[in-house]
Amino acid sequence: MTLLHSNLEKNRTFVQPNAFPPLPKNPKKQFAIFTCMDTRLVDFLEPAMGIRRGDAKVIKNAGNTVIDPFGGVVRSLVAAIFMLGVEEVFVIGHKDCGMASVDPPHLKAQMIARGIAPATHAEVPIRPPE
Ligand SMILES: [Zn+2]
Repeated sequence: MTLLHSNLEKNRTFVQPNAFPPLPKNPKKQFAIFTCMDTRLVDFLEPAMGIRRGDAKVIKNAGNTVIDPFGGVVRSLVAAIFMLGVEEVFVIGHKDCGMASVDPPHLKAQMIARGIAPATHAEVPIRPPE
């Protein structure tokens, strides 16, 4: 069984009719969190901040870094603020972030080894411009 099939099987038992009452799109607590995608934050950051489903918009990426001023993070924050009633944004980092120790040449070599086309890995921004 693949990881996907395993997760789909878990999902079938998780999703029951009417198990989750509908919630509004706007966050109840009117704030957004921009943080890292680190797995150690899953089911950790939200309870640490006292938020539950429907309370806040949570935006995650590798290293909670804005690299492109017109990229997905900014687009998500614009939508949150101007379309969904967000009034405050909290940027939350963490200790021992994996992105702090990324070696771009090594990462590029790994991508090449897996067959990623050179034109693709040349465009992957790892860190913000200095
Ligand atoms: Zn991180």
